[in-house]
Order: sequence, then C-alpha cells, then structure tokens
Amino acid sequence: MRFEDQRKIMIEKNLISRGINDKALLKAFDKVPRENFVPDEWRQYAYQDHPLQIACKQTISQPFIIAYMMQLLEIKSDDIVLEIGTGSGYQTALLAELSKEVYTVERFSELSMSARKVLRSLNYTNIFYRIGDGTKGWDKAIPVQTEFDKIVVCAGSPDIPVSLINQLRLEGRLVIPVGNTTEQKVILLIKHEHENEIIELAPCTFVPLIGQEGWSA
Ligand code: SAH
Repeated sequence: MRFEDQRKIMIEKNLISRGINDKALLKAFDKVPRENFVPDEWRQYAYQDHPLQIACKQTISQPFIIAYMMQLLEIKSDDIVLEIGTGSGYQTALLAELSKEVYTVERFSELSMSARKVLRSLNYTNIFYRIGDGTKGWDKAIPVQTEFDKIVVCAGSPDIPVSLINQLRLEGRLVIPVGNTTEQKVILLIKHEHENEIIELAPCTFVPLIGQEGWSA
C-alpha cells in the first residue's frame, strides 16, 4: 500500500478513534511523511502506532502519544514553540506546520544533524536547531529567544525542569512526561502568575531526559 494511504489509515485508526480531533493537527499528520524520518530498514513500519529505533539508541515516538501531547499544547499559528529532544525530527515537522517558529534542542549531534537534513529537504524554514542539554531550555542560544508560548519535552524526566518553567510565558503551556526511567505520566503545566496549574494525564514510556535538570548520564 502507498505511504499516503497508510498515513490516512493511521490517522483514522490510531488518532481520530482515540480522541484526537484538532483539525489543524490532523491535517499536519496528513502532510508530514513519517517514512522520511525512520531508518531505511524500518520504513515499511512507519505507519504502525508504535515507537521505532533511530540512531544513538533513541526512538521516534509513537504517533498517538505525539498527537496526544500536541493536542494538549493547543498550538496557535503565531506561537513560538520550544521542543526538547529533536530525535528524528518528525515531531519538529508537525510543530513547524502548526506554529510560527520552532526552537528544538537535541543532546546528540548525530541526531540533530540528520533531523536537519530531512527537515531541510522538506523545505521547513521556521525551525532553529541547538545541540546541547535541553533541560536548560534555549538558554544563551542563537537566535536569542527568552520566552516561549509552548514547550514540549519528548523524553521522560524525574521532575519538571525549573529552567523550562522560567522560559515559558505567562498562561503558556508545557507538556512533559514525568516519572521514573521506565514509566511516566504526561504532565500539562499551565503557567500562572501565582500558582501554576499542574494536571497529571495519561501513562507513557519515553527514553530518559539526560541532563543537569533531568537524569544523570
Ligand atoms: N519527538 C522525537 C523523540 C525522540 S526521543 C521523535 O519523534 O523522533 C527523545 C530524544 O530526546 C532523544 O533523541 C534524546 O537523545 C533526546 N534527549 C534526551 N535528553 C535530552 C536533553 N537533556 N536535551 C536534549 N535532548 C535530549
């Protein structure tokens, strides 16, 4: 079956039927070719709803969990978004479809470089890349950006990194998996002036967030 058709089936079967109803988000899923972001040997499995191995012992996340986390972010077309854990770059592309600009941080240069290559081949021009420890956010990186409307972390953390909360604008939304290294819960934080709202949601399993405000290597 053609990848385009597999993509449509995946959207019906794994996203819409499980409560993903954000029209713009579903349109983005229909546009971004997931097969371009997975290693050649896994291309035929690109539209199955599970994570796949990429380089550096990391994974491209399961489509449903990406959609679930992105729906919680309620991304608007003028939003500036920070993504921690570029990985394959697949989610970066989806974020770039929905927002004004995406700032993405990855600790492995090999992954960041290959994600850049794929994303450039797909003609995205609203993505900024950084190699380093994303638990510190976009701190001291170029181009300068001190505040984000939305932040998404694509790796499991023991806690919510304070640096990320500091770089979120008031009323902004941050979505992050928090728990131990084998099991986490998706957490939605909405930043308020006095007390932040923290909502604990679905269970999930991500590779660990390694860094100063995450797990140690
Ligand atoms: N959304 C990506 C998920 C990749 S897995 C995709 O679908 O491809 C999570 C990524 O987070 C891995 O590539 C891992 O190397 C990266 N990561 C882990 N800790 C990090 C940190 N402190 N800073 C930046 N990236 C980190």
